[in-house]
Amino acid sequence: MDSIHERWHPESGMQLVLDFTAPKPATPPAPRVPPTPRVPPAPAAGRPPVGRARLLGRIRRALEVPADLVVTDNRRTMISTKKRGGRLEVRLHHMFLDAPDEVVEELLSYLTEGDPRASHRIGRFIEENRDRIKRRGRRVLLRTSGEHHDLEELLETVTREHLPDAKDGASITWGRCPPKKGRRRRRRSIRLGTYTHESQLIRIHPALDQAVVPRFFVAFVVFHELLHHVVPAREVGGRFDHHPPEFKRRERAHPDYAAAVRWEAENLDLLLRFRGRS
Ligand SMILES: [Zn+2]
Repeated sequence: MDSIHERWHPESGMQLVLDFTAPKPATPPAPRVPPTPRVPPAPAAGRPPVGRARLLGRIRRALEVPADLVVTDNRRTMISTKKRGGRLEVRLHHMFLDAPDEVVEELLSYLTEGDPRASHRIGRFIEENRDRIKRRGRRVLLRTSGEHHDLEELLETVTREHLPDAKDGASITWGRCPPKKGRRRRRRSIRLGTYTHESQLIRIHPALDQAVVPRFFVAFVVFHELLHHVVPAREVGGRFDHHPPEFKRRERAHPDYAAAVRWEAENLDLLLRFRGRS
C-alpha cells in the first residue's frame, strides 16, 4: 500500500493521479525457478463484469461534466484525469473494466470528491490485481547521470517547464555505448533518442553525453521523446504516424526548436563520429 500515492497537478488540469509504482524486489529473482503460471483472476461470483460501455455510462452519470473514458495498459499510473476542452478524460487501467460494483462506487466517489478513504480502498483493489499490470519484459538498469549531462535533472526540468502533463509518466536512461573494439563502419545516421510506449522509457544516445553538446540540445532531445509519451502515435490507414500534426505543432512551439534543428544540422558529423567512451 505504501507504493500508492496521490498527486495534485493544478497547472496541467490533471487533477487526481493514483500513482502505482511496482516496488523493486529487494533481491533479484532466483534463477531456474519456473515462473508461477499467471491465471487472470476471475470476477467473483454474482458480480458481472462492468465492461467499458457500462463503466463509461456510470462515470458519465456520476460526473457533472461530459466525460470520456480511455482504457490504459499503463504500468504506473492506474487512474488519472485530464481536462480537454470542456470535457474530462478519465484514464483507467483495464483492471477496472471488470471491477466489482463496490470498487466502481469507490472509484466514482474518488473521481467526484477525491475521497481519500475511497483512494485507500481502490489502492487495495490495485494491490490485489497487481498481476494484471504489465511488467517490463526485461529489467532495464536506468543510468541517468552522465559525464556531462544529468538526464534525471533534465527530464525533471523539461517536464516542469514544457510538459507538465507528462509528470511522473516516463523514465529515462542513457543508451548503451557502442562496442569500442572491432571495425565499425562509419555511421550514416544516428537516433539521438527513442521512446518505448510499453515500458514508458526514454533512451538517450550516449553520443550526446559530450562536453561539446550544449545542454539546451540534450534538453530538446529529451523534450522530443517526452512529447511521444504525451502525444500518442496516430493510426492512419493501417500505418502509425509517430509525429502526428499535434506532435509537430507542439514541437515547433518549443522556444529552442529552431536553435536545436540548427545545432543538429551543424554538428551532425560530430555526433556520427562518436565511438564511445575512451
Ligand atoms: Zn520522434
